[in-house]
Amino acid sequence: MTKHATQAIVVHCMDFRLQKFLDDWLQRELGHGQYDRLSVAGGVFDLDFVMKQIELSHRLHAIGRAVLINHEDCGAYGMAGTAERHAADLRRARQQVQSAFPDMEVDLYYLHLDGSFEPVV
Ligand SMILES: [Zn+2]
Repeated sequence: MTKHATQAIVVHCMDFRLQKFLDDWLQRELGHGQYDRLSVAGGVFDLDFVMKQIELSHRLHAIGRAVLINHEDCGAYGMAGTAERHAADLRRARQQVQSAFPDMEVDLYYLHLDGSFEPVV
């Protein structure tokens, strides 16, 4: 198998309403085709599943960065999907990623339906 690497994995929801915003933003932020991309209902909602994909991305493609994006009005969360809940889940995901991969940079965003990306600190 040939060795190949990329800079990051991006995790975001599969919701079609967000894809144009995501495509444009990711192209600006990371460059076209310069990252692994996981599109799954709820973003980090199913954290066990997401962690497995990040581990694979790290092992196979030597990534050093994870960009985790949840969004407003997410159907996977339903009524439970407040901005606070999304921020809490994103922070929990960052903690798990960084405990598994202490050197990995993790960036968190809350994507609004109008296409604005709000950093979560
Ligand atoms: Zn969603």
